[in-house]
Amino acid sequence: MGFTYNPLIYSHKSPLDLREHSFYNKNKCSTEVRSVDNRVILHCDLNNFFASVECLFRKDLAGLPVAVCGSVENRHGIVLAKNEIAKGFGVKTAQAIWQAQLKCPKLVIIPPHYDKYLEFSRRAREIYERYTDMIEPFGIDECWLDVTGSQTLFGSGEKMANEIRTAVKKELGVTISAGVSFNKVFAKLGSDMKKPDAVTVLSKENFKEKAWPLKANEILGVGRSTEKSLRGLGIFTIGDLARTPENVLSAALGKHGRVLWKYANGLDNSRVIRDCEQPPAKTIGRSMTCKRDLENNADVKRVFFALAESVTHSLRENKAMAGTVQITIRDSLLNIQEHQQRLTMPTRLTTILTYTGMEIFTRHWDWRRPVRSVGIRACELVSEGENYQLTFDHDYEKLEQLERLEKSIDTIRGRYGDDALVRAILI
Ligand SMILES: [Mg+2]
Repeated sequence: MGFTYNPLIYSHKSPLDLREHSFYNKNKCSTEVRSVDNRVILHCDLNNFFASVECLFRKDLAGLPVAVCGSVENRHGIVLAKNEIAKGFGVKTAQAIWQAQLKCPKLVIIPPHYDKYLEFSRRAREIYERYTDMIEPFGIDECWLDVTGSQTLFGSGEKMANEIRTAVKKELGVTISAGVSFNKVFAKLGSDMKKPDAVTVLSKENFKEKAWPLKANEILGVGRSTEKSLRGLGIFTIGDLARTPENVLSAALGKHGRVLWKYANGLDNSRVIRDCEQPPAKTIGRSMTCKRDLENNADVKRVFFALAESVTHSLRENKAMAGTVQITIRDSLLNIQEHQQRLTMPTRLTTILTYTGMEIFTRHWDWRRPVRSVGIRACELVSEGENYQLTFDHDYEKLEQLERLEKSIDTIRGRYGDDALVRAILI
């Protein structure tokens, strides 16, 4: 059986990712700015990123509508990115390939090359680093830059944004759009307002005139379901959102309502958080879509094993243990189920994760339909050193032995690559 990791899991920015993002960090003291009043924040967004990189390497694609798509064979048959020409035909990200081809019959479809994108992402960041070390990446193609302290050296935020834009185009051959503002939310909004290869300034003086007429879903934090709730309240634009009394929003949307009201009024004061300051992951999960449907428990167990190995590897890297195991099951009709189970003691053993996953799976799945993809996630993470309640139904010596074995597997893989050791169950 062949396996492919689902690239979307790593690249797609779903509302869920946003919830785990620093804006929503409970520890407000560390994420909000208190002292600096007049900040200058840039948001740089690489335009049509995957498609732009592909077109650089394929001069034969010049002038053609191009879409980078997950492969049909692996069933990720959707558009991941498209160039401007394809966009003109109405091709949209996340559209199924067949839908895109209806809109644009001559569409050239190419598979993604993630290593190339990572390389370009890194090189863009090197350009940003010439201006500040306060950089917060958001996905593979976006970054916030706090350039407040860089103005004495390099001039205004707008000037820096234009220099960065020119340097990226000249040195990498791809373009960015940049937003310049006094907070992160408006900087991001600005980078969406004019693209490709453009700079938009949203200042304290002009944001009401420029941002408020835009649709509410343009602002960070308004996804499809929030947009629907807002429409129910008669809120269609960012200005509507700003002018609605805060208590009306929080009554309808809870905490999120209050956050959105702040965003719309230019009161977002979250900091640009560098990589090294990012809070540790709250959950660690992997999922996989298989080349053929899974048809029995043995199939599922094999996949769980492979996924659990990757999860426990990340757990060891993050010096964390799983308190709860969660699985997702997607069947051939694309229905999704999620179930979880608390562990009697925290673990990061592949074996335990897999067997717990299987326990949950067999409890909930009746095989009326084949399974298209499964996922396994370590939740309620505790850190390595944290004390946890010991129970007596475990053979600790055996567990420690297993832990040592799995650690040495990591070491061998680290040295010789992932294929150096393949568990018997996967062969
Ligand atoms: Mg982009």
